Amino acid sequence: MTTAVIITAAGRGLRAGGDLPKQWQMLAGRPVLARTIAAFTGFEVVITVHSADLERAKSLFSGQIVLGGADRAASVRAGLQALAGRGVTRVLIHDGARPLISREVIERVLSALETHPAAAPALPVTDALWRGADGLVAGTADRAGLYRAQTPQGFNFEAILSAHLSYNIPAADDVEVARAAGLNVAIVAGDEANIKLTYAGDFARAEAMIKELAMDIRPDIRLGNGFDVHAFCEGDNVWLCGHKIAHSKGLLGHSDADVGMHALTDAIYGALADGDIGQHFPPTDPQWKGAASHIFLKHAMARARARGYNLANCDVTLICERPKIGPHANAMRAALAAIMGVDVGKVSVKATTSERLGFTGREEGIAALATATLVQG
Ligand code: MG
Repeated sequence: MTTAVIITAAGRGLRAGGDLPKQWQMLAGRPVLARTIAAFTGFEVVITVHSADLERAKSLFSGQIVLGGADRAASVRAGLQALAGRGVTRVLIHDGARPLISREVIERVLSALETHPAAAPALPVTDALWRGADGLVAGTADRAGLYRAQTPQGFNFEAILSAHLSYNIPAADDVEVARAAGLNVAIVAGDEANIKLTYAGDFARAEAMIKELAMDIRPDIRLGNGFDVHAFCEGDNVWLCGHKIAHSKGLLGHSDADVGMHALTDAIYGALADGDIGQHFPPTDPQWKGAASHIFLKHAMARARARGYNLANCDVTLICERPKIGPHANAMRAALAAIMGVDVGKVSVKATTSERLGFTGREEGIAALATATLVQG
């Protein structure tokens, strides 16, 4: 089932004040519409914009941009027509000026669409309702059964496309169009935070909520460490952090014995809570004998990316008396960065000795420590 999203941003409403329509104004340092689009990451998104905002839209969004029509319904119709014939089975139609839409509300709408041709979030009216005239209360109204409608409103794609094509009077929203075509619309729980920015005061409210929400949606930051040791053996070179150095000894190991790269690989697995190098590449398995260690590091990075993480930075410390690491540190950083597919500025390689103490001091082997930070997104 393919779900597409139409984000309506063609309105020119200036009730929020300022020179720009509200969806283009900044909200806590980021355009409102950019926030709304980001809320639908992972979906196929089409935005509808006014021709006057086309360039602005292009600078903000690299997906499909559709020119809106004379009113909201015409803009939605244009968005639906742009999606026709592309195998879309469900569509969510969302106000560009509702940037605080949560994944939970989106999921509730999608899940109601499993059993209904249409579904939309709403909140029951809890305040008393009055009729007013000339500044005086002229009567009260029963709030039972009344809801405040929100978006995204979700629909079976073909059903809402055909409903829009046969509807040509003004509509408050797409639910009204759907109901006119006889579709049952399920109500799912909306969210008080999912406000539609309309007046200047709404921006202050939304900014306060963004600060509050940030407490909950802090990016997931994961830290891992790794440690490895390899003994020296007969040889004339060592591989350290993906870089070959001529030396009076070699390093003993099942693979190429790149102790620095092994520690770093384990740091990434550690950050993911995803085992260690020996689990993924058992030393008992002959296929890894003499293997180049970049296979392990690439594997760990692929596991990180598959889970939505990227490397924020890593730091490797090699502990040995010799070979001297300093002259090679930048080449090692470049090699590791290339293997991981990250900027070299995120990769640190440094070295220390153990003051001639212990096995590294006696030049029996090399130890390595590594730390890696992964961030989501
Ligand atoms: Mg090792």
